[in-house]
Amino acid sequence: MSGSSDRVELSIVIPCYNEEDNLTVLFQRLQGVLEGLNLTYEIICINDGSKDSTLKKLIYFHHQNQAIKIINLSRNFGKEIALTAGLDYACGNAMIPLDADLQDPPELITKLVEKWREGYDVVCATRRSRQGESWLKKFTSRAFYQTLGNMSPVPIPENTGDFRLLDRRVVEAIKKMPERTRFMKGIFAWVGYKQTSILFDRDPRFQGKTTWNYWKLWNFALDGITSFSMLPLKVWSYLGLFISLISLLYASFLVLRTFILGIDVPGYASIMVAILFFGGIQLITLGVLGEYLGRVYEEVKGRPLYFVRDAYGFENIDFENIDD
Ligand code: UDP
Ligand code: MG
Repeated sequence: MSGSSDRVELSIVIPCYNEEDNLTVLFQRLQGVLEGLNLTYEIICINDGSKDSTLKKLIYFHHQNQAIKIINLSRNFGKEIALTAGLDYACGNAMIPLDADLQDPPELITKLVEKWREGYDVVCATRRSRQGESWLKKFTSRAFYQTLGNMSPVPIPENTGDFRLLDRRVVEAIKKMPERTRFMKGIFAWVGYKQTSILFDRDPRFQGKTTWNYWKLWNFALDGITSFSMLPLKVWSYLGLFISLISLLYASFLVLRTFILGIDVPGYASIMVAILFFGGIQLITLGVLGEYLGRVYEEVKGRPLYFVRDAYGFENIDFENIDD
């Protein structure tokens, strides 16, 4: 039932960046699952400026099955933006973002849909295990989610990627969020609605290599924290207040001591320590301000999030006029 004429019930959104070796198995498994579900579906693949033959392969699969639609972005915009583009064009009553590398098992879609039919708006797939990932990745990821959880006003579920089912009302809510720094996991959590989750074992990447390195992950973490918490901005005034109070006490002590014991020349070490310590704190403060200011600048510029070069399978959309 590869329906594109009737009202689409389920949209699968797949961001693809250099995924040529995964597509054949992906569509095989995905179509197997979707046909079994007995509902109308569409599979929207976003080609995020791939440098290999991903687009060519996608077009081939589009000709095999009209339910496979393609959005070809004008360059590589990154996964979060690719996902946003998919969200904008998906028209199903429910939507599921899926990684192209088969780390999110398509077979789980059946369970997600079951829960959706029970009446939930968001059904998260939470990882029970993370195979194929180093202890360092697991450790840093855990530390990040705990930090973010403590800082952000909305809990952002740990071990939960973008793989989840979103009801149409949630998709519409997310589309109203115009921010340019798109930390999707946070956005998904922020909108609220009736949420539940199911557990699954995450497989290692099927083919190819991940594009994430620790520098990218660090910046991703900064995006997450700055988008969902103002604590890093606020903490400095309290720290400053605390240090000022201590300095005042220490200064009184020094004045008293000078009156009683006279002038004491040595003190090079303590002065150096104080100067370096406060110099460091001031630079960190400036850095934090810079992180927020940079993001404010991004927002103020108000550039479109992405550009679509061409699309396949969307007969009714006029791409000339689409700019966000
Ligand atoms: N991806 C993308 N644009 C990018 C990087 C990745 O669309 O710039 C896609 C990629 O094709 C895959 C998904 O995002 O479908 C997850 O990427 P990856 O497997 O590299 O991330 P990880 O699983 O390590 O978080
Ligand atoms: Mg992956």
